[in-house]
Amino acid sequence: MQTAQSLMMGYRRKRIIVCLLVALLTLLLTFGLRFISQRSLNQQHIDAYTRHAVESLDKILIPVAGKRHELTTFVGQPCENVHLSMRKLAASLQTLRSIALVKSGVIYCSSVFGDRNLVLSQRQSGLPSATPKLLLSVDQSLVKGSPILIQWYPASQDGEDGVVLSVNIHLLTTLLLEPQRPMITRVIVSVGRQYYSDAQGISDQLLLADNEEVVTRASDLFPFGISVITPGATALALNDLPTQAPLAIVLSVLLAIISWIATAGRVSFTREIVLGMARREFELYCQPQLDTRTQQCNGVEILLRWNNPRLGWIAPDVFIPVAERENLIAPLTRYVITETVRQLGYFPATPHFHIGINVASSHFLQGALLRDVNQYWFNARPQQQLVLELTERDNLKGVDYRLVRELHRKGILLAIDDFGTGSSALSWLEQLHPDILKIDKSFTNAIGTDAVNSTVTDIIIALGQRLNIELVAEGVETPQQAHYLRRHGVHYLQGYLYAKPMPVAEFPRWLAGGKPPPKAHNGHPQPVIL
Ligand code: C2E
Ligand code: CA
Ligand code: CA
Repeated sequence: MQTAQSLMMGYRRKRIIVCLLVALLTLLLTFGLRFISQRSLNQQHIDAYTRHAVESLDKILIPVAGKRHELTTFVGQPCENVHLSMRKLAASLQTLRSIALVKSGVIYCSSVFGDRNLVLSQRQSGLPSATPKLLLSVDQSLVKGSPILIQWYPASQDGEDGVVLSVNIHLLTTLLLEPQRPMITRVIVSVGRQYYSDAQGISDQLLLADNEEVVTRASDLFPFGISVITPGATALALNDLPTQAPLAIVLSVLLAIISWIATAGRVSFTREIVLGMARREFELYCQPQLDTRTQQCNGVEILLRWNNPRLGWIAPDVFIPVAERENLIAPLTRYVITETVRQLGYFPATPHFHIGINVASSHFLQGALLRDVNQYWFNARPQQQLVLELTERDNLKGVDYRLVRELHRKGILLAIDDFGTGSSALSWLEQLHPDILKIDKSFTNAIGTDAVNSTVTDIIIALGQRLNIELVAEGVETPQQAHYLRRHGVHYLQGYLYAKPMPVAEFPRWLAGGKPPPKAHNGHPQPVIL
């Protein structure tokens, strides 16, 4: 048998587990949500940065491209005629390092040096070309070794004449494409299969470390792309997680405290029930049942009363459902059986005297009830007849009929309580073979009225008689109801008309016909037998 202490420890453990789970869930949820939002923010930031880098380089190349036609008209003209205009143009486009005019594949005029005589193909592979070209290259004349972007515009059909524009990208990448650590570690300008970064210069390979990710965006206007190297939105968000720890911890502790407080009320009531059993606060009351043929009390129904020292009187309609929900109904029924056995001396010691005990279907459905009855009832060898009352309001579908047979074999009577209020099909009646049907008080109440229930009362009576099952009417309050029931063959009656539930110790005085002392709670009038 579960002890009150072990039950209480169980509740405490459950409550602690619930609070820990809430805290853990909050922690995971906070970290999870922060991670997801931070990752998407990082991604947005990287995309915006890449877009901005492409636009910055576009902005530099657009004015250069704008001068294309003007410059190609210079090709073929003597250098001294156009040299000054070229210098002015180069100066007006600040990022332009130099302009060179090419005739028949030979650079013959430079904005910086004036007259020249250099074979272009020896200076820059891939040039001259019949189509405009953008190339990554290294300056070989002015700032030797510095990276430049070369823009080639052909001025003749065969592509042997044209203009070479050198754009200073070293300045551009250091000023505009400054990496933003830790989010962006490198920025790379790619043209064709060549890559330039401030740190590594020009190379024909894009080298990536294992933990690096690359986001590339191509320009819509020029044949270049910008590749941004980052540790990745996910890795960055993960790195950022420890900074979220204080918020997550505060939140989870707060929610754990709230759930501890929220479960306190629920648990404390169940704890009260456990404590109530341990301290024997539950008192057994009994309500007599009358056999109207003999005018004798033929038995009692045991009903629990709880005078909680902290909460006052608590009705069984309140604590029984809580006990059922919290798996306390079996311990409570054991309590009722042991207390009834302890007080058996108050009842007539004859097998004709019935003692009805209410049993919840959850307890009934388990074999545990049979064990409990053997251990706590039969071990005491009582003379009285045990009746187990099983309410029809509960679902009786799962009843194991072997258990019912075993109870019958042991001589226990089975009563179906609140009969008529359940929704089960009548076929189970045949299988369950109850010995007694207790007509619910709502049907007794309907006697003598026009309510539909009064017709149902007649049907229930007819059904019991047809199936040869004993009928007991509950909630008999008026002589008219008693008279009607007797006339229709219901001989066992229970209700306020005869006696309200009374403490077991007062039953002998009631039975002897004396008036029991008035009770503060649920007292009863003196017995009247009709
Ligand atoms: P129940 O088994 O149907 O018990 C009959 C209820 O009707 C009792 O209410 C009783 O006081 C009340 N009653 C008796 N005669 C009259 C009457 O003439 N008029 C009216 N209006 N009521 C009458 P109680 O004691 O408040 O119990 C309510 C319910 O709580 C019980 O209904 C039963 O389902 C449950 N209960 C009580 N004690 C136990 C118990 O030890 N174990 C279990 N599992 N349930 C119990
Ligand atoms: Ca009952
Ligand atoms: Ca009942």
